[in-house]
Amino acid sequence: MLFDPVPKTNRRDFFDREREIDQLKELRTPIVLVLGLRRTGKSSLIKIATNELNKEKDALILYIDLRKFEEKNYVSYRDFLLQLQNEINKMSKKYHYIMDILRRIQGVSIVGTEIKFSWSKENRVSFHSLLDVLEEGSDREVIIVLDEAQELVKMRGINILPTLAYAYDNLKKVKFVISGSEMGLLYEFLKVNTPDSPLYGRAISTVELRPFNKEEAVLFLNQGFKEVNVTFNKEEETYERLGGIPGWLTYFGFSYLESRDYEASLKKTLDHARELIKKEFENFLLPRYIAKKRYYLIMKVLSKCGRWSDVKRTLEAEEGIEISDSEIYNYLTQLMIHSWIVKKNETYCPAEPLIGYAFT
Ligand code: ADP
Ligand code: MG
Repeated sequence: MLFDPVPKTNRRDFFDREREIDQLKELRTPIVLVLGLRRTGKSSLIKIATNELNKEKDALILYIDLRKFEEKNYVSYRDFLLQLQNEINKMSKKYHYIMDILRRIQGVSIVGTEIKFSWSKENRVSFHSLLDVLEEGSDREVIIVLDEAQELVKMRGINILPTLAYAYDNLKKVKFVISGSEMGLLYEFLKVNTPDSPLYGRAISTVELRPFNKEEAVLFLNQGFKEVNVTFNKEEETYERLGGIPGWLTYFGFSYLESRDYEASLKKTLDHARELIKKEFENFLLPRYIAKKRYYLIMKVLSKCGRWSDVKRTLEAEEGIEISDSEIYNYLTQLMIHSWIVKKNETYCPAEPLIGYAFT
């Protein structure tokens, strides 16, 4: 069902992204990026494509969901290893040979049918050797998904970039699919354009999911309702009020099916969006709490778009002191890197309409 509010796992339930699914499945480079704002369907796309690769080519899939770390100020190697451990355990239930190949690695112990990773300083499992044994011991492709990988920017005590670069250059079977909603931040993390960084100069193929335009949104709503035999004729109006983010449209469709009340479903979607966006903004503010009030004010000023001078004037009026250009520059840059706002010519706008709505 198109309006099912969870990430999709089957192509059938995913509207109009055939080209993107096929492009991702090609895995044209050892690392493939999946980019798009929150709720444009990245996790769904990845799940659908990797499910198909598993069915068609028996590829092994390790799916690491890094969104779990959104509310944390930093991520330790232990956090990362534990996630990997969970996924490896799931995988080894189906592919028993995994256990045998992992035995060879330092820091891995097998207790009954459970694989345990150690993270103690002297005996910790290295990500590098894990990839090595997967490459050597496996006769099929191994796809490691790092979903919402910008969270790895917060990782302390280890840098996984050299390992990613090593895998890129040397491993034939191990491939990475790396997704990010905060696109600027993801590039900052991977440092593909920084000359002395491990991944410098590597070609990385990218699949981008854009929000639906009006025509696509109308068609999506239309098909979604048709599929369940419900009459609906406010597609255009709905797009005007909610914008083209697939996740919000899905949520709306789902609510409407439950209540059959147009205004109530719109309101429910807007309330839900506001709440989620605010929570995500609070996560963004975690390491920036000193400037919290300023960031809120900037988002308010820009909720219906605005210029640099609007931001500066409002902040200064609020605080009654001069705020330097470099400070303003820094705030706006951070908001852009994290995909809260976009710059069009000299104007700064919310990255999608409901972000604007959340701050009015
Ligand atoms: P992301 O990982 O980019 O945040 P998700 O894959 O979690 O996005 O999708 C958000 C919501 O939107 C989910 O409920 C998903 O089912 C729905 N969705 C996104 N894109 C589509 C699409 N093309 N067709 C149907 N549903 C979609
Ligand atoms: Mg996701």
